[in-house]
Amino acid sequence: MSSTAPSISKSEDKTAKKYVYYFGEGHAEGNAKMKNVLGGKGAGLAEMTNIGVPVPPGFTISTEVCTYFYEHGKQYPPDLRDAVAENLARVERVVDRKFGDRNKPLLVSVRSGARASMPGMMDTILNLGLNDETVQGLAKHDERFALDSYRRFIQMFSDVVLEVDKEHFEHELFALRDRVGAQTDAQIPANALRELVATYKKIVREKSGNDFPQNVNDQLWGAIGAVFSSWNNQRAITYRKLNGIPDDWGTAVNVQSMVFGNMGDDCATGVAFTRNPSTGERKFFGEYLPNAQGEDVVAGIRTPLPISKAQALSGEKSLEETMPAVYAQLEDVYKKLEAHYRDMQDIEFTIQSGKLYLLQTRTGKRTGFAAVKIACDMTDEGLIDHREAVERVEAGQIVQLLAPVFDHAEKEKALKGGRLLGRGLPAGPGAAAGRIAFNAEHAVQMAADGPVVLVRIETSPEDIAGMHSAAGILTTRGGLTSHAAVVARGMGRPCVVGAGSLKVDYGRGELRSEGHEPLEEGDWISIDGTTGEILGGKLPTRPSEVVQVLIENTMKPEQSEVYRNFDRLLKWADEIRTLGIRTNADTPNDARVARLFGAAGIGLCRTEHMFFAEERIVRVREMILARNEAGRRRALDQLLPFQKADFEGIFRELTGMPVTIRLLDPPLHEFLPHTEAQMSALARDMGWGYVELRAKVNQLHEVNPMLGHRGCRLGITYPEIYEMQVRAIFQAACDVRKDGIDVRPEVMIPLVGTVKELQITSEMTRRVAADVIKERGVDVPVIVGTMIEIPRAALIADQLGEIAEFFSFGTNDLTQMTFGYSRDDAGTFLPEYVDKKILPKDPFESIDTTGVGQLVRLGTERGRSANAKLKVGVCGEHGGDPDSIRFFRTCNLNYVSCSPYRVPVARLAAAQAELEQKAYEG
Ligand code: ADP
Ligand code: MG
Ligand code: MG
Repeated sequence: MSSTAPSISKSEDKTAKKYVYYFGEGHAEGNAKMKNVLGGKGAGLAEMTNIGVPVPPGFTISTEVCTYFYEHGKQYPPDLRDAVAENLARVERVVDRKFGDRNKPLLVSVRSGARASMPGMMDTILNLGLNDETVQGLAKHDERFALDSYRRFIQMFSDVVLEVDKEHFEHELFALRDRVGAQTDAQIPANALRELVATYKKIVREKSGNDFPQNVNDQLWGAIGAVFSSWNNQRAITYRKLNGIPDDWGTAVNVQSMVFGNMGDDCATGVAFTRNPSTGERKFFGEYLPNAQGEDVVAGIRTPLPISKAQALSGEKSLEETMPAVYAQLEDVYKKLEAHYRDMQDIEFTIQSGKLYLLQTRTGKRTGFAAVKIACDMTDEGLIDHREAVERVEAGQIVQLLAPVFDHAEKEKALKGGRLLGRGLPAGPGAAAGRIAFNAEHAVQMAADGPVVLVRIETSPEDIAGMHSAAGILTTRGGLTSHAAVVARGMGRPCVVGAGSLKVDYGRGELRSEGHEPLEEGDWISIDGTTGEILGGKLPTRPSEVVQVLIENTMKPEQSEVYRNFDRLLKWADEIRTLGIRTNADTPNDARVARLFGAAGIGLCRTEHMFFAEERIVRVREMILARNEAGRRRALDQLLPFQKADFEGIFRELTGMPVTIRLLDPPLHEFLPHTEAQMSALARDMGWGYVELRAKVNQLHEVNPMLGHRGCRLGITYPEIYEMQVRAIFQAACDVRKDGIDVRPEVMIPLVGTVKELQITSEMTRRVAADVIKERGVDVPVIVGTMIEIPRAALIADQLGEIAEFFSFGTNDLTQMTFGYSRDDAGTFLPEYVDKKILPKDPFESIDTTGVGQLVRLGTERGRSANAKLKVGVCGEHGGDPDSIRFFRTCNLNYVSCSPYRVPVARLAAAQAELEQKAYEG
């Protein structure tokens, strides 16, 4: 991945180092490519400035200073102060105002900005530079506005820098609003604000022990230090962990001259997306608040208004209507930005006295639905090509298109039955039903026992963990760009926001809605993030459109744009990728689903799963417990038709495709009767005494079955088991071949650790297969290979490669045995290992490239050194994990195999891996 910023301490010539980058007046020292140094926000401000979008001037202190700061006990590089002063002077000249000046004061915002956007994670301070003197300079223009800005600044600065909780201030603000009868902050008169400022300063003195800082340079450096420090606040750390952002990237600090959206009715602030981030629809889309500042829109304090007429409901005043000229300008800007970045942008703007300023642009976060639609639409519009379209969709996100939606009929019934509690804004598509949790902590706890819907008035960054564990999110306040909406979309959670007709009462633990009994924590609720509907109770879901078209045939492709785009994108991926995709499937139905999702065969068919069905398990138990070989063969003879029928079903689904069948693998004890009832029933069935049977079961008990009598060890000690399986496979193959099916079985020997094991079992396989083929008089190919899942097998892969026609890395067991972690017990310590950074990730989820991955690479190379035509694949869980797939591509594997619903993810990830590999090779 990207390299980290070079460490400053290594730099010899400190004066040569550039730490501060100016932007303003149509020219910037940085640009969009410098995200590593400027952070996303700084790079965006620079780029916008360069392409002629109106941006208030300012400068960016680079992420390298953050790195320096943490490497030097929170000290700055020696010449940083001079560089900041120089750039500040430049801003002063351009806007013709002076920092700290009592007549014409310059005010600035101090804004954090890491490489990857971390919404709401870092704290921004607005209106910095206000004190008792400068506020009077500002008041010359408009006193109310000056005081409004001052009180905002005191609260933000105190909260972020002085660590005086903002609740103290908000409490006073709400009390004041009540006292003067103001509905919104904008209605509070100047003299009341003056009092409020005095009260705020008193709070600061009481809570922090000092007066609110009046020196503007102290304010500035306090704020800069706080932004750097906020890189390591708990919320930021949690967000990085959930999103895999390295801790050592650091943040930049942007210092920018203020523009004011709170100076009157010809002012406003807003946020917008160049396309709909939830559905991907090609419509400019956003929200604004008249006479308001910065965070007001995102914070969900007032429900914002729509920016366009098309988006407005009746009675809502859109920006297009109230300020048509500025709106037209905004449209020009968004078109310019989208054409320039060739991707959907998420922008922040402020209108000061009828003049538009852009304060941020970044690649907009979007749902999987929107990602696929935007990629396809932009291809059609000629903005991007197929390759870029494939790169634009995060592989893991595509599973959202397969997620269930509410059953239409059931929902209609519920609506008619009066179960609609209310409606909100559809912020994250998909259906979720779950028990209500009113706070994040409860959501985390309750999620252990089943799905939860997190219900809040609004969410804030503290709620991240709760939002992550919830199946769905509902808020009663805030718009489509509120914190809840943005984060839910990023996480792919169904989400409804701004459901204003519902009332959350945290005190009583109730969700109230007109005409319904209040709901309490733990009650079921259902939310539809596609339509915004909120229903009481638990609504059943039905399959997604993609599944309906592809798998269930209950919808036609013409009826589903979602399906058509899904299909197009994956076909483009198929044109790019070289890695094959197979599936892990044990039944004809799974095989069919996987084939329809685009799998080109089975990489792992686990035969033991066929042994558990009711009529079969008895025969299996008889076979295991039999006194001698003759007894075993009798039981096996009865099992054979079952196995044969299973294989026939699978072969018929996958004509022309390879089907890798693994011979029996798990320890026998998994099949044994465990309860007394099972044992006596079996004893009766076999004509044994109960005591005798129990003794035999005990005798088969193993201390550590995972490392015990399993895999090919069974096939060697009880050859009749494997013989029966091979016979069943080839009888089935010959029989379907007669029906014209192009059948390609591949027999896979599990848990091989020595050459002899593979020799014995593969010779047996070939012999039995040859017998069957001769008996049946039809020809089918006989291919024998082995699973590589014991480290020793990877090490002797050159010897195994002389016998095997294919390898399939069983990366679950290989991980287990290489680390010596029991898969079933690792849950007790692995999370802590990841927390403490002993391991970067759970190695069972994503392949450990440095250790286990080396065995895959080395095993492949050694195997191919003996047999250049050796086919190599992976059949562990890692086969459906995008990061692992990227790694496997670098090992030159032929295919990965994953569960049917991961096949689309794997197709996309394999294409992306291919593009990365090409880029790497040049
Ligand atoms: P975040 O990363 O949380 O979005 P930002 O740094 O973008 O934080 O700022 C928070 C809010 O303040 C945004 O709405 C932004 O538009 C506004 N803002 C930031 N700087 C200025 C400025 N110089 N003038 C006016 N508004 C600003
Ligand atoms: Mg922002
Ligand atoms: Mg295994």
